[in-house]
Amino acid sequence: MSKRILVTGGAGFLGSHLCERLVDAGHMVICLDNLYTSQKLNITRLLERSNFEFVRHDVTEGFKFEVDEIYNLACPAAPGHYQHNPIKTMKTSVLGTMHAMGLGRRVGAKVLQASTSEVYGDPDVHPQPESYRGSVNPIGPRACYDEGKRAAEAIMFDYRRAHQCRIKVVRIFNTYGPRMHPFDGRVVSNFVRQAVAGEPITIYGDGTQSRSFCFVDDLIDGMIGVMDTPDEFTGPINLGNPMEFTIRELAEKVVAIAGAGASIELARPLPQDDPKQRCPDIALAKQVLGWTPKVDLEAGLRKTIDWFRSVDLSQYRAPTPNY
Ligand code: NAD
Ligand code: UDP
Repeated sequence: MSKRILVTGGAGFLGSHLCERLVDAGHMVICLDNLYTSQKLNITRLLERSNFEFVRHDVTEGFKFEVDEIYNLACPAAPGHYQHNPIKTMKTSVLGTMHAMGLGRRVGAKVLQASTSEVYGDPDVHPQPESYRGSVNPIGPRACYDEGKRAAEAIMFDYRRAHQCRIKVVRIFNTYGPRMHPFDGRVVSNFVRQAVAGEPITIYGDGTQSRSFCFVDDLIDGMIGVMDTPDEFTGPINLGNPMEFTIRELAEKVVAIAGAGASIELARPLPQDDPKQRCPDIALAKQVLGWTPKVDLEAGLRKTIDWFRSVDLSQYRAPTPNY
């Protein structure tokens, strides 16, 4: 059955893939975005589709649409971007979620919040299950994002307790793939852009810190799967790939696959509060959704590298100087 679906942040990396999937499934999709960290380029092909609409709007201001489901993705996600204007990042998380939930409450729509593994901070439990309450520095440079997302989760659950709203909270771990902003400063986009250009690969710190990388197609499968769960299921639920790699291993893989012969350099010290390790415990997603990621890092990197080679980087404006 065709649904009316609002995707905030729908022009971004994950949002554009999500919109594409929902449009292809025949739903009426409204993509709401202020294009802070993305460009219309991501949705150019969707703009031709009759069941897709783009609305340029900032979620810190209220919005009203008659919809059945809301995916709330609007928020800068790359550390350099969210730290560039931290107060705006906090407003986006908090006010954006209040507005999404206010709308969800009025029209009875299900609301899915794109939360993050950053709610676990620099974790001292490994891998991280949903029951882990995290180790976040509330006054550090990442707090605008980490605490903003934690506040957003609190808002979701308060709306449910106070008004019986239909909510879903997904905690997304590092996800990569085609249509990442080439100048977002995240590790995969940086390494791939650098390797393709034959520039040195910039490792921060000594490269022993770890992350687990999920290919975007797997993540979107999981996200839609969570939205489709019965109303009793609220999450939070981890979505990510449990295969863990050090940043040095990632750099070596990118160089090997890109075949570029780029050098690897220790470019600068580890940024403050940069988590030393991160890996999702996805037992809940396996149990509730029967979901596990299918695309391994090598296959996903090949697709990502192919995409970076296929685009004209001069068409992309760096959203902030931090990349
Ligand atoms: P992205 O930066 O590509 O997308 C975010 C989108 O939100 C952009 O299109 C941006 O223009 C828009 N936006 C930002 N502030 C806005 C505002 N005030 N009003 C309206 N639109 C606004 O990042 P992404 O990787 O696609 O992330 C999407 C969501 O998923 C974010 O909420 C992010 O926190 C979450 N997430 C992503 C990852 C990941 O690895 N990609 C991991 C954890 C969580
Ligand atoms: N990183 C790096 N080189 C880069 C960009 C990032 O070594 O050019 C490191 C960063 O310090 C962190 C990891 O890669 O340890 C992942 O960074 P990213 O910004 O992608 O996301 P995070 O998981 O920290 O939110």
